[in-house]
Amino acid sequence: MSAPSLPSLPSHARVVVLGGGVIGCSVAYHLAQLGWTDTVLLERDKITSGTTWHAAGLMVTFGSTSETSTELRKYTRDLYARLEAETGQATGLLLNGFIELASDDDRLEEYRRVSAFNRHCGVDVHEISPREVKELFPLANIDDVRAGFYVKEDGRVNPVDVTMALAAGAKKLGARILENVPALEVLTSGSAARRRVRGVRTPYGEIACDVVVNCTGMWARQLGEDLGVTIPNQAAEHYYLITERIPELSPHWPVIEDPGCHGYYREEGGGLMIGLFEPVCAPWKIDGIPGDFSFGEITPDWDRMAPYLERAMSRVPISEKVGVKKFFCGPESFTPDLRPVVGEAPEVRGYFVAAGLNSIGILTGGGLGKLVAEWVTTGDPGADVTGMHIDRLHRYQSNPAYRRTRTVESLGLVYQCHYPFRTMTTARGCKTSPLHDRLVAARACFKDVSGWEGADWYAPPGVAPEVGTLGWDRPHFWPYWEAEHRAVREGVVLMDMSFMSKFEVQGRDAGRLLDRLSANAVNERDGVVTYTQWLNERGTLEADLTVTRLDEERFLVVASDTAHRHVQARMRRFFEDEAGHAFVADVTSGLAQINVQGPRSRALLQSLTSVDLSDAAFPFRTAREIDVGFARALCLRITYLGELGYELYVPSEQASHVYDRLREAGASHGLVHAGLKALASCRMEKGYRDYGHDIDNTDSVLEVGLGFAVALDKPGGFVGQEAVRAKKARGPLSRRLVSVLLSEPEPLLFHAEPVRRDGVSRGYIRAASYGHTLGGAVGLAMIEADRPIDQAWLDAGRWEVEVGARRVPARLSLRPFYDPSNSRIRG
Ligand SMILES: Cc1cc2nc3c(=O)[nH]c(=O)nc-3n(C[C@H](O)[C@H](O)[C@H](O)COP(=O)(O)OP(=O)(O)OC[C@H]3O[C@@H](n4cnc5c(N)ncnc54)[C@H](O)[C@@H]3O)c2cc1C
Repeated sequence: MSAPSLPSLPSHARVVVLGGGVIGCSVAYHLAQLGWTDTVLLERDKITSGTTWHAAGLMVTFGSTSETSTELRKYTRDLYARLEAETGQATGLLLNGFIELASDDDRLEEYRRVSAFNRHCGVDVHEISPREVKELFPLANIDDVRAGFYVKEDGRVNPVDVTMALAAGAKKLGARILENVPALEVLTSGSAARRRVRGVRTPYGEIACDVVVNCTGMWARQLGEDLGVTIPNQAAEHYYLITERIPELSPHWPVIEDPGCHGYYREEGGGLMIGLFEPVCAPWKIDGIPGDFSFGEITPDWDRMAPYLERAMSRVPISEKVGVKKFFCGPESFTPDLRPVVGEAPEVRGYFVAAGLNSIGILTGGGLGKLVAEWVTTGDPGADVTGMHIDRLHRYQSNPAYRRTRTVESLGLVYQCHYPFRTMTTARGCKTSPLHDRLVAARACFKDVSGWEGADWYAPPGVAPEVGTLGWDRPHFWPYWEAEHRAVREGVVLMDMSFMSKFEVQGRDAGRLLDRLSANAVNERDGVVTYTQWLNERGTLEADLTVTRLDEERFLVVASDTAHRHVQARMRRFFEDEAGHAFVADVTSGLAQINVQGPRSRALLQSLTSVDLSDAAFPFRTAREIDVGFARALCLRITYLGELGYELYVPSEQASHVYDRLREAGASHGLVHAGLKALASCRMEKGYRDYGHDIDNTDSVLEVGLGFAVALDKPGGFVGQEAVRAKKARGPLSRRLVSVLLSEPEPLLFHAEPVRRDGVSRGYIRAASYGHTLGGAVGLAMIEADRPIDQAWLDAGRWEVEVGARRVPARLSLRPFYDPSNSRIRG
């Protein structure tokens, strides 16, 4: 027998894509489509041999409240529909429809909200009655079904065929696809912030390249680990069964999904396929995925799955009577927050990742490949990627114990009702503020804040500080939240914000470089706090933060918890590129942040310090050290709540001492604790933005109403200046972020509720809370029109927000509803 011939490798390629599953093939296809045909895809074994070969192939556009995810799904469906004509390779796409079943009130509310949003995004979904469900899928038991949500144009696809078609399409355009060639190592050059990809080592030699895209699915973490790239995805068992033939079952019926029964259902080879998402899953191979696991199966754990299976089968009772032809278990990888891991790794330049697909790799794969290819070739992903960016993830999340624990929760979440006030419950307590024990004693109810324990609200004596039963209505802690909100507006509160990302930037060029990075002027005077955005060359947002000039060569940069690694990497890379004398120290853990806010905050702090806090001596945006007790704190007069207020940055070891002094002195000033619920409701009344929630990388700084924070003509300019100038020159904006206030006090807004003007959908609520001062739910929505948007146009329209099945009248405003003239913060 002759030995297999060694593959001949090119010595160089512009991009090397690692992994030939649906994601790698889609990335290679789209790179080639964009003209980057000097692309090589390396597959360790055969195309599809990882997870892709055994996917169930649901092709569903319904179900997400993320605009990006919904757009990826829509694009994917359209792509799969045209691939056969383009490549000659069939994809097995069958668009027989899809029905999501709601069999209890909470799911009904959830899907009504989701379907309103999906319709806004162009998904043609309709609520149908149980009888109509029965007509479309006559074998379904509809006894307890409340409604179905039907998308006629959705359906299923053959995952292997679609991947082959993508590979064929890529090859046709000139990309090379090499099977049986594992990447052994990604090679880099340079050190620290300059480290960048230079090639890939294989058993057959090296390929030099500028960019790699790690699409190795459940192997991605291990491959990344060699270079310290954090990709904390984890494989877990994932099941379906296929019954013997059921003559009554038609292959033309829609796919149905019933999360309440843990299952999805479709015809397969004359039998019924029942796919499962169990509430408590089993992670697989925590220590590492074997390198030779190809077209592999996992021995099913019948005992563990039996109760879920029983329930799933009850939805289509005939399945209980026929035999099981195949009970299949295969691994799929899941991430800590059920979002994929995508983008350029902060650790290594030119190292892109697209992995951790959380069981929707087929139905989003087409769109994700396009997004990644655009990101690689232009630097612009073309969509909001704040929720999926690899840099949201932290090193500790790769810890085996963390992955084992968190994966159980994240897979389990897939089929749970997605309640608004839910927080992750596993792997908790591993990041705590220095004040944690004191906040526990103060009866804080905590939530997960990028892994930190963040005080969400405080329970009065006699009430358990627990989130309680989740639902869509007012939560049980409403009165305590409201009281905290009112204390912010009328008295004085203490908030522990130690989870905020804090960086000390030092060096001879620190001021000049931070000023170039910032759209606002941040390098004018010592002791000044400046709110600013960092932009990219397109003039869209990369970060939203404060920069405080401590002295000529020392700055404090403070950003939100979610922006931690993005902000850090952006600074480090910029300083390196500019070859400046500027250095970033991450002081997040070293500095506690205690916010003292509210109209009585000055009186309280003044009673504790010898520094003059009067408005004349310590105006808004001042930063200065003050003494509190035996400690020294950096005090910033700034607010995210819309009141007179201060932020104290205290060395961690003195945080408890400062807290105790504040509490002692606070007793006579009516000081109370306030949590993140009050922060959200106060900031939303004031229209303060939150990057990654209501503003993102697709927005121009002008569209989001932050032009006031842009020093357009400052000497030295800034990154994105030309783009902002050009946008301004184009005249009035037809896309603007506005505040939305419901005219009725009862309905609640959370996220993704469509906003209509005279019946026409113009945008959706990006983030919302309840305005306890304003007396109604309040949010921020990006509104688009075919004409300039100004207040007169807003006032002339009849505005409504779709809240579930209802349309609720609303008012829209370019200025915040609460204290638009900022009189309160001047205090
Ligand atoms: C039971 C089941 C049902 C599913 N049903 C659906 C569904 O209905 N709809 C849906 O959208 N999704 C579904 N999924 C999820 C879907 O299958 C995955 O999200 C998707 O296949 C992931 O694709 P991928 O390309 O990221 O990973 P993979 O398909 O695993 O591809 C990664 C590839 O990388 C290769 N590789 C690994 N290491 C190296 C290396 N060092 N060098 C080179 N190559 C390497 C592997 O051999 C593999 O081929 C299902 C999953 C399971 C398990």
